[in-house]
Amino acid sequence: MVKVNQSSTSATSLEDEPPPAPEWKKILKNSITSAREFAAHFKFSEEELRGLERVCETYPSKVNSYYLSLIKERDDPIYKQCIPSIKEITDSEGEEDPLHEETINQSRQGVPSLITHRYSDRALFLISNKCAMYCRFCTRKRKVGHKKSHVTKEQLESGFKYLNSHQEIRDIILSGGDPLLLENSSLEKIISKAHGIIKKRKGILRIGTKIPCVLPQRITPDLCEMLKKYHPLYINTHFNHPLEITPESEKACNMLADAGIPLGNQTVLLKGVNNNAGTMIELVKRLVNIRVKPYYIYQADPVKGTNHFRTKVEEGMEIYRSMRGHISGVAIPYLVIDAPGGGGKIPIIPDYIISINEKEVVLRNYENKVFKYPQTKDD
Ligand SMILES: *Cc1c(COP(=O)(O)O)cnc(C)c1O
Ligand code: SF4
Repeated sequence: MVKVNQSSTSATSLEDEPPPAPEWKKILKNSITSAREFAAHFKFSEEELRGLERVCETYPSKVNSYYLSLIKERDDPIYKQCIPSIKEITDSEGEEDPLHEETINQSRQGVPSLITHRYSDRALFLISNKCAMYCRFCTRKRKVGHKKSHVTKEQLESGFKYLNSHQEIRDIILSGGDPLLLENSSLEKIISKAHGIIKKRKGILRIGTKIPCVLPQRITPDLCEMLKKYHPLYINTHFNHPLEITPESEKACNMLADAGIPLGNQTVLLKGVNNNAGTMIELVKRLVNIRVKPYYIYQADPVKGTNHFRTKVEEGMEIYRSMRGHISGVAIPYLVIDAPGGGGKIPIIPDYIISINEKEVVLRNYENKVFKYPQTKDD
């Protein structure tokens, strides 16, 4: 081992220097965010640039240098997810908050702004308003990344007050924005408080984060050491395309899994990105290989500014049908629609049941062969 800094003078002078920024912060700093930067990078015309300027005024835009490096060419599946498009403002169909995340709370008493309490036993707690990349199809496009929606200390406190006083909540889902963009120390304060609440209730803690996909360098040994103190902790991440599974994201997921954190994945069906069986099958196979269990595939929500990503429901069902029975059951997620109006997630299951009566159920298997299952007689 080479010994350094033995003289006190050099030790002092080293201490005077700020600690080097971790790699993930450098990558984040190296983001492109303005229409002008996008235009320069992708050689847009003047007219395209003017259009994009309007988009960027309406919706936050940011692509960090890691995610940007995954783009191979204009309009590829990575590009479409992160580079703003004029379609975001030319199509006015859809609502800003179709899932009624803001208004659902009015049906309960005194739910604070950072909490969505739709299901009795679990609550969504939106602890961050920033992301490492702003997805063009984001369901919370109305507020994520906007300065006016910055999370305050007071809001966090009233969130905790609510969680504390509602004994029925046994599953706290930390989401955002991206919770893992917080510094370890701020994040740990929140996690340890939330953990204290669910621990007494024998519940679970969850984090919803896109970080393993868009900024895997953020998953550091320090972060994993911290997280593993708060089991039972689950993480759901968000990969949409096999090209997002890189050596970096594989390493990040393995580190989290090694910290004992069960990993799930939520994918959104997106036109031109992943709406075909081949892509989706490749994605789920790669996910289980990096120890991530596909959990949900969402039909895209009818959110204003994201309509160009939406696909037909039948298409999602066809993709599901191409998976079930054909690939490992471990790799198969539920296909769901998050019901507009705040109805929650509803599974969409292709028609495997042909008929059902008192005597028998007639079923279709994955190869379209027909089978019968006898009913039990009534007692
Ligand atoms: C998705 C969601 C949950 C969690 O649902 P699970 O099916 O338990 O994963 C909880 N609350 C809200 C508001 C949600 O949108
Ligand atoms: S990471 Fe999640 S919250 Fe952030 S922009 Fe993407 S979809 Fe929206």
